[in-house]
Amino acid sequence: MSTFDVLIVGGGMVGATLACALRNSSLKVGIIEQQPAWLDGEFTADGRASAIAWGTSQIWRQLGVWPAMESLGVTPMMGIQVSDREFPLQVRLRAEEAGTASLGYVVENAVTQRALWQAIQTAANVEVVCPATVTGLSAGADGWRVTVATPGEPRSWRPICWWEPMVGIPRYAP
Ligand SMILES: Cc1cc2nc3c(=O)[nH]c(=O)nc-3n(C[C@H](O)[C@H](O)[C@H](O)COP(=O)(O)OP(=O)(O)OC[C@H]3O[C@@H](n4cnc5c(N)ncnc54)[C@H](O)[C@@H]3O)c2cc1C
Repeated sequence: MSTFDVLIVGGGMVGATLACALRNSSLKVGIIEQQPAWLDGEFTADGRASAIAWGTSQIWRQLGVWPAMESLGVTPMMGIQVSDREFPLQVRLRAEEAGTASLGYVVENAVTQRALWQAIQTAANVEVVCPATVTGLSAGADGWRVTVATPGEPRSWRPICWWEPMVGIPRYAP
């Protein structure tokens, strides 16, 4: 059984960003992801691109992963037009009016994931557990116990804190 200070369930955009934020800290971090291809750097199955807000790009810049995303390819959004079917009025936003280099970026999800995973896979205090699926969670007097199914034998951990990526609220051990 392994013990972590922070155990992140899911290595998607949010989970991998949190792992990046915690890399090089004094915390022992684990991140569990069930998609086996990600371990080999295969992020293309999604096939989608996302509109990334300017603020999000600045968070990734602060975390040191934005240059990798830029080198893999990002497209700046210089204008945004918001409309509602036949409603006659529209909102038009322009980067030069906002005073920023762009309003955000369109980035392929594969690019985002690749840059985030490159960062966490080389972090000394982050253990990537992949492929593995979290199958159970229980609270004990000394922390949380997370049960994980892997293609090999079942493993379990006792983290003192875990993160639920779809909710985004840290839960601390009692
Ligand atoms: C069609 C669509 C278009 C979107 N467009 C945009 C956009 O343009 N701009 C934008 O900012 N956002 C967009 N979003 C939202 C954005 O994709 C999500 O907010 C973001 O992906 C959430 O990140 P996440 O890490 O919380 O979840 P996910 O990206 O869903 O990652 C969760 C991860 O957890 C893993 N996982 C799940 N359960 C387990 C388990 N039990 N054990 C181990 N691993 C597990 C999954 O395999 C997955 O990799 C869009 C979403 C959709 C569906």
